[in-house]
Amino acid sequence: SDGPADMDPAVWAKVKDHPCYSEEAHHYFARMHVAVAPACNIQCNYCNRKYDCSNESRPGVVSEKLTPEQAVRKVVAVANEVPQLSVLGIAGPGDACYDWNKTKATFDAVTWQIPDIKLCLSTNGLALPDHVDEIAAMNIDHVTITINMVDPEIGARIYPWIFHDHQRWFGVEASRILHERQMLGLEMLVARGILVKVNSVMIPGINDRHLVEVNRVVKAKGAFLHNIMPLISDPAHGTHFGLAGQRGPTAAELKALQDQVSGGTKLMRHCRQCRADAVGLLGEDRGQDFNMDKLPESVD
Ligand code: SF4
Ligand code: SF4
Repeated sequence: SDGPADMDPAVWAKVKDHPCYSEEAHHYFARMHVAVAPACNIQCNYCNRKYDCSNESRPGVVSEKLTPEQAVRKVVAVANEVPQLSVLGIAGPGDACYDWNKTKATFDAVTWQIPDIKLCLSTNGLALPDHVDEIAAMNIDHVTITINMVDPEIGARIYPWIFHDHQRWFGVEASRILHERQMLGLEMLVARGILVKVNSVMIPGINDRHLVEVNRVVKAKGAFLHNIMPLISDPAHGTHFGLAGQRGPTAAELKALQDQVSGGTKLMRHCRQCRADAVGLLGEDRGQDFNMDKLPESVD
């Protein structure tokens, strides 16, 4: 089909079988994540480093960490059993752009075996500008950037430090660098025709009101989707890094914010905050069926 009347057919061609970018596709096409990228270059106050990157995934779950070689075996095994598999994503459990060698090795080897699979990655954006040309050359046509602020003063309450240019940066200065790199990465991707989804984690009392401004800015810069996710606090697994006792938003608060910023950039409301090793249709996770101990020794 040519897709919705209000959508550019060239854009539709890219989103129609990506479950995370198209409401319709998420019923019919499957995605899988492989957790090959454990290293991260920033500290989010809501992160609990023992678990998956909460920028894309449900916190408080540990994904099976794989080497690129193991990941390729797993993807091939899943592709053989799940015919709807259309998308392979790397979403941590740390940062896919910072742990770039593993991300690239995995994507290159999978593309070699399954040439028509679509690739996507998610990142906090700090290392993104360094890899945009390779991302374009590798035909990665969907990138998710987690952008929680466009004001470094607010950022300083979310990010205690970043690691950039061989050194650690703190406070407002760290958030200013992160913000500039996120905006640069977003602009570079949009200029190359790569679809960008922006994720924002809604943190009551810290960035909840400010996300209206984030939505305005990312929309103006050409983000295709804006996905506002609730902070999920998880007392059972210990407090978040620097937000002890921080509550997540209520369902009503989340919906009120989503209603306030809808229009223009499509808002994604069907994100399930999948784990970093999710497998299957959205809302379904067959990841446990494909753990390494259940795979054959080698797949040729
Ligand atoms: Fe944790 Fe933030 Fe790094 Fe994700 S980007 S792994 S949430 S510190
Ligand atoms: Fe899609 Fe959200 Fe799951 Fe990522 S976490 S695969 S964007 S539904």
